[in-house]
Amino acid sequence: MILKNALNFSHALLQQKVQPGNAVIDATIGNGHDTLFLANLVGRKGHIIGCDIQADAVNHTKQRLIDANITLASLTLTDKGHHHITDLVPSALHHKLTAAIFNLGYLPGGDKEITTTSKTTLAAIEQLLKIMPTGGLIVLTVYDGHNEGKVERRDLYAFTNQLPQDKYAVLNYQFTNQKNNPPMVIAIEIK
Ligand code: SAM
Repeated sequence: MILKNALNFSHALLQQKVQPGNAVIDATIGNGHDTLFLANLVGRKGHIIGCDIQADAVNHTKQRLIDANITLASLTLTDKGHHHITDLVPSALHHKLTAAIFNLGYLPGGDKEITTTSKTTLAAIEQLLKIMPTGGLIVLTVYDGHNEGKVERRDLYAFTNQLPQDKYAVLNYQFTNQKNNPPMVIAIEIK
């Protein structure tokens, strides 16, 4: 199969965009799989800002990076929510900010009541659109198999679809014939 699932497709986009030395954001670090993926893309001179409202997620992600012997120019992992993203990214890094990933929903194997919400996800995206430079890429993996996910998907779809096409390219990617609510990817690239 050359058609990738949502997770692999989101990683393929990041792989094309992120270069060594860049600054990147993992807006929902969870167990740190995406953070580790990003760390390998930005390399030793790169910068990562990661957040998750669950302190355990921050600790697990820190440990995952240690176990993988990751060295970075700077690493910020915090339990502040991504709706505080402007405060979390130093202005000196704005011009290096090439990508942000949001893997939405709840942590697999964790508390299903702790889930991303449309309100805070949209707040984070609006902030990122102000601070990211031209070429910046925001990748969202959206799961609508749970109630909040349905709201989030509806609101994200509505918000991103109205972004002006002279300033942003917006993509929706989803298998249309799969059972059990396959996730979709929404990607926004700043022109
Ligand atoms: N990317 C993760 C990985 O590789 O394991 C999986 C992320 S999981 C699907 C979604 C995560 O978003 C949960 O760990 C949850 O705690 C977190 N979350 C929920 N609301 C948040 C917020 N406002 N800011 C940051 N993280 C949030």
